[in-house]
Amino acid sequence: MSNQTKTIGTKIRHSLQADCQSCFGLCCTALNIVASSDFAINKPAGTPCPNLQDNYSCHIHSQLRETGFKGCTVFDCLGAGQQVSQVTFHGQDWRQSREHADKMFRVFPIMEQLYEMIAYVAEALSYQVDNMLYEQLIAQLKHLQQTIAQDADSLLALDMVAIRMPINALLLQTSEQIRQHSVKGKASRNLNQRGANWMGKNLKGKDLRATDLRGSYLIAANLQDANLQGVDFIGADLRDTNLRGADLSTSLFLTQMQINAAQGDRSTKLPSYIKRPAHWQ
Ligand code: SF4
Repeated sequence: MSNQTKTIGTKIRHSLQADCQSCFGLCCTALNIVASSDFAINKPAGTPCPNLQDNYSCHIHSQLRETGFKGCTVFDCLGAGQQVSQVTFHGQDWRQSREHADKMFRVFPIMEQLYEMIAYVAEALSYQVDNMLYEQLIAQLKHLQQTIAQDADSLLALDMVAIRMPINALLLQTSEQIRQHSVKGKASRNLNQRGANWMGKNLKGKDLRATDLRGSYLIAANLQDANLQGVDFIGADLRDTNLRGADLSTSLFLTQMQINAAQGDRSTKLPSYIKRPAHWQ
């Protein structure tokens, strides 16, 4: 794989940023939200949040955490919102008609999933993987890029499981190849901790390099000062995980939402495509 391809993967991964100015407040309207410590009220899918203003900005944007809407500071659509608003629906907002709105709100969660898959595949392409895997990742990336450009009816008819399955297999292969490089020689611990329940566990300062933590539960776990290089975090639950001083600079498949939900500080090392959350001290 050439450096040029690695650069393309890195470039695409970095470009996946939400642009709320170009979106019709879809995350504040389309999604079903149940009241919890993250969101102060119940909000059914397709109903605008009462804090959403006519210009699609949030009335309490600067006080979300203090007013019980912490979840809104965690959410990241990776750009799916502006794609649906400006490309799929050609800049026509959901106030046009009920039918138009219903369709837009059903397309948004599908687009979100497609964008998440693009982010993972682009990240995989930013690594040094073997040629066969590289070709398969490129084919999937092209397919996803064509898919997000489809019209609303075609998007609604997609079989998301059929799209996700081959991508998941490629991401697993990528993880295997990259994590093998992250540990020199044979590791003296079990690197397969897929789905582990480490909620509240104290792992302060531990060497967890190259561990597979796919789908693991790390809620409120203490990973302060842990070495998390080459750790696969895909689908891991990092709510309130203590990442202060931890090194995640080469962790795999982290998302902005996972990091936004965790606790960290200036000493936490993050991958280049992840922004340091504003609420971290
Ligand atoms: S509180 Fe603000 S950011 Fe959160 S859903 Fe409502 S309008 Fe959107």
